[in-house]
Amino acid sequence: MKAAPFEHHEPTSVSQAVSLIESLDEPTILAGGQSLVPMLRFRLARPDTVVDINGIDELDYLREEDGYLKMGALARHADVEDDELIEEKYGSFADAAPLVADPQIRNRGTIVGSIAQADPKGDWGSILIAHDGEVVAAGPDGERTIPIDELFLLPYDTSLGEDELITEARVPTPEEREGSAYHKLKRKTGDYAMAGVAARLILDEDGRIETAGIGMTAVDITNARAADAEERLEGERPGADLFKSAGELAAEQSNPESDEHGDASYKERMVEVLTQRALGDAAERAGVTKRRATP
Ligand SMILES: Cc1cc2nc3c(=O)[nH]c(=O)nc-3n(C[C@H](O)[C@H](O)[C@H](O)COP(=O)(O)OP(=O)(O)OC[C@H]3O[C@@H](n4cnc5c(N)ncnc54)[C@H](O)[C@@H]3O)c2cc1C
Repeated sequence: MKAAPFEHHEPTSVSQAVSLIESLDEPTILAGGQSLVPMLRFRLARPDTVVDINGIDELDYLREEDGYLKMGALARHADVEDDELIEEKYGSFADAAPLVADPQIRNRGTIVGSIAQADPKGDWGSILIAHDGEVVAAGPDGERTIPIDELFLLPYDTSLGEDELITEARVPTPEEREGSAYHKLKRKTGDYAMAGVAARLILDEDGRIETAGIGMTAVDITNARAADAEERLEGERPGADLFKSAGELAAEQSNPESDEHGDASYKERMVEVLTQRALGDAAERAGVTKRRATP
């Protein structure tokens, strides 16, 4: 099936895009098109106007600046996958990028588009949760930042205003004793996660966990924070028993649905295991030398 006809706009600056979005009647933003184009072709989305942001060069960046790793709205999954700085310093991002969809989708799809899509099975939202990330939104009244915990409302629904676009997603640059990891269970290449867990740990000088972040994929109506597990970890020394207990709490807090890939109790068990593994890798990357007991 072909998409229904629509008007196509190609702004070349953020200010132009914002003016267009404000002046048009319910326009849809097009980034990598990897979620939107299939929806257009199946006529699940029938916008009258599409604002294509691919010509806005100022949105094409992935860099560290002012204490953040900043990903402009045109940073693609493949840019993260190929980046040496990411490989060296951002374990969870380096783990996740090659596991997103397939190489064709990674070449076009964007991190920000994935977050804006707010699919609970998307990987990047969980990673931003673990890293206490935020997005920057531009609209007619200027710019505002939205903490990731305030962005996702429902599946495919965010707190972004109708006349706003996201210009950037960002996470704080890592501290000295910080490590992160992402573990994902999927059936085969190209599949979304059956379950996924992002973990980030910051240790204090004494080796105790100062800050813990855990984001979960595909096991609730949005990407979700495992807050009870984070609380259990903070102030404690990293170790297999602690991570097991955090895994159990994350599983309790998850809310998966049964489907053709597995029933809810199986997915809960997977959350428990993936949490332990992600925490084990995050701890190692934060400098803890003792290996975890693999469940
Ligand atoms: C077969 C398949 C498998 C996939 N597997 C995975 C996977 O394993 N993990 C995963 O995370 N993702 C997966 N995806 C989704 C993929 O990551 C998409 O790239 C992503 O969801 C959307 O990014 P995009 O840049 O293509 O956005 P688009 O398709 O262009 O847009 C998606 C939505 O976001 C809105 N939008 C885009 N950019 C902005 C912006 N800057 N501001 C405001 N709104 C915006 C659009 O209006 C649209 O509603 C998969 C997709 C497919 C088709």
